[in-house]
Amino acid sequence: MTPLQQFENLNKAPNLDLETRILRLKQLKKAIQSNTDKIIVALNTDYGRRCESETRIAEVMICIAEINHTLSHIGEWTRTKTKPAGFKFLLSKNAIIPQPLGVVGIISPWNYPFNLAIAPLIAAISAGNKVMIKPSEMTPSTSQLLADIVSDVFKETEVAVSLGGVDVAQQFSALPFKHILFTGSTAVGKIVMQAAANNLTPVTLELGGKSPVVIDEKYNLKTAAKSIIAGKFYNAGQTCIAPDYILVNKKQQKDLINELTDELKKVYRQTNDNNDYTAIINSNHFNRLRIIAKKADQENQCIWPLGDEMIEELNVFPPLLVANSNNQSSTMETEIFGPILPIIAVDSTQDALNIINERSNPLTLYVFSNRSHFIKKVINNTLSGSVAVNETLVQFAQNGIPFGGVGESGMGSYHGENGFNSFSHLKSVYYQSRINLNSMARAPFSNFKKKIVKLMTNM
Ligand code: NAD
Repeated sequence: MTPLQQFENLNKAPNLDLETRILRLKQLKKAIQSNTDKIIVALNTDYGRRCESETRIAEVMICIAEINHTLSHIGEWTRTKTKPAGFKFLLSKNAIIPQPLGVVGIISPWNYPFNLAIAPLIAAISAGNKVMIKPSEMTPSTSQLLADIVSDVFKETEVAVSLGGVDVAQQFSALPFKHILFTGSTAVGKIVMQAAANNLTPVTLELGGKSPVVIDEKYNLKTAAKSIIAGKFYNAGQTCIAPDYILVNKKQQKDLINELTDELKKVYRQTNDNNDYTAIINSNHFNRLRIIAKKADQENQCIWPLGDEMIEELNVFPPLLVANSNNQSSTMETEIFGPILPIIAVDSTQDALNIINERSNPLTLYVFSNRSHFIKKVINNTLSGSVAVNETLVQFAQNGIPFGGVGESGMGSYHGENGFNSFSHLKSVYYQSRINLNSMARAPFSNFKKKIVKLMTNM
């Protein structure tokens, strides 16, 4: 079926009642759990080498946790919330009724191809919508498995998966969805938003960018290095919220590089024959990274802490630290999205903040400090989608706070109740009480009414 036929099929069907949503989410959870081995194999096939435990954690565990959280709270999220109408509307009341939107679209990328299709699906289903998913063409095995799991769990009139390349993606984003959640690059996000505008379809854009790390000079560098290495080299840096570059005091750059190197040696030892170290998704991205490394070598100081060679046939790209980088370095031109980590040495915290604020708003920001005034200074003087203090990546796994970008890193959010709200229409309803004093505000305005109106405007 073409995306248009799938859309028409779904559009005719009713939205999902609460009972069906709960049932389907439970069935989805079971299907993910029983297909975990297949998910691991599919990801490994698509990447050539994908760390199994990272797939379990990032693609499976996080989705299961999102379903569990949704099932525990869906009763409360779907309930009508009443609000007082206020003194002037004596005894009347207001209500907010969440309603499904209809058919919504999800477009997902290749870097966590299962999670980034399933997590928005959980949100869209919790809100009672019918859903179409366009997964990435760069991970064909995972996208096919996703389609198989979806067709086992959902009826054809509830969820459809549109497989294919950019041509299918273009047909897909032109459909008159009631909402689109797009995860991917800023460049394609702009194209999707333009296509959505033709239908006045609202969009949630989960985009990328360069997420900085700021280290307080009083913070323990070994502790910071542990967390930075874990966050940067997870999925070989192919993570939207991976630390993209580090800002550290000039006096500490050398010590930090030593700590990062020690930690890399401890964690990976070597990357050539190490199943914990994921390969780059394909040769295009491998070559893109190779060009960044080559330019960095001409401009700054490249350090290959493990001394490993690149393995072109397997797209294995060893960790690279780039010391003495600056805001004009080629490593700072675009999101790195791979295992290259530039380090910028600064004179002061203010210099670090200036560098962040000269750039577009990052998706996330990491601050390492135990001093609350330092943490507050960084949080209050920068604008990023999210912030994590003294840890990397795990902010994504928090169901209770919104996940999303700002400015160039995106708009809107999801996860937990925010996802439910993004895929719902929050309908406002006003209930007039039997005692109706509103005539005081309507013509004809007698002297008495005029006095009351005057009185009320001064309240
Ligand atoms: P991409 O933008 O190239 O592709 C994403 C999706 O868009 C794919 O499904 C693709 O088929 C589709 N697409 C491609 N061309 C299209 C078009 N013309 N019209 C409509 N759809 C089109 O992104 P990618 O390379 O798969 O992913 C990497 C990017 O995603 C990085 O920038 C990364 O930071 C970002 N990302 C963001 C998040 C987040 O949550 N904010 C998560 C993961 C990745």
